[in-house]
This record gives sequence, structure tokens and C-alpha cells, in this order.
Amino acid sequence: MNRTILIVEDNDNNRILMNDLLSYHGYTVLEANNGEEGIVMARNNMPDLVLMDIQMPVMDGFAAAKILKDDPVTRQLRLIALTSFAMHGDRERILSAGFDDYIAKPIHTRGFLMIIKSYLEPGNNIN
Ligand SMILES: [Mg+2]
Repeated sequence: MNRTILIVEDNDNNRILMNDLLSYHGYTVLEANNGEEGIVMARNNMPDLVLMDIQMPVMDGFAAAKILKDDPVTRQLRLIALTSFAMHGDRERILSAGFDDYIAKPIHTRGFLMIIKSYLEPGNNIN
């Protein structure tokens, strides 16, 4: 089953790493560099999952998540925040902003893929 994941992340290295991992595992990957671009991509493509960095230029992840969740067209999109170490402890803020979950950076391959799979292929174990 083909699943599409939108990565919204301003850091090139992080974006490339995640795209490589997800593409290798058979997902279709779309990319955006900031929240504003991410909203346009999300509306136009309605991906199965959105991975959204918090700290980005132009529009940050909190603002973008609010816009997506306030819009009936995009409200049902599943959003996972990509958080930096500095944001540990901000769980409440992240979830109340409309995110379904969050993944801490730096990305650890196995845990990262397990979380993605748990959203896109429930019942399917990575083991
Ligand atoms: Mg960033």
C-alpha cells in the first residue's frame, strides 16, 4: 500500500536523512522548507502523514499546525512534530497545538521508523 508522507523541515540534512529513510522503506515523500510551504503542500496533496519541524523560518510548526487544524479540509491530517532537544518537556504545548505526536531530534532510525509505521501501518510490526 503506497503511503505519502510530507516532511516540513528547514534543515537540509534532517530533511534529506528522513527522505532517504522513508523512500527506502517504500513511502512516497514530499518536502517543504517552512510552515507556509508545508500548508500549501498539505492542502494540495493530502498526505497520509505530516512530519513538521517546530523551529522554521517564515512560519513555524506551531502556527502551521494551528492553520491546518482550524481548516475543515485539512483538520483530519495526522501531524507529528519534529522537536529539538531544547523542547523536551514541552509535550503539553506540542499536543495542545494540534499535533498527534512528536519525534525528538536527532532522528534515530529504528525508533523513527517504528513511530511512522505505528501511524501508517497499525497492526504491522517492524520486527
Ligand atoms: Mg528547524
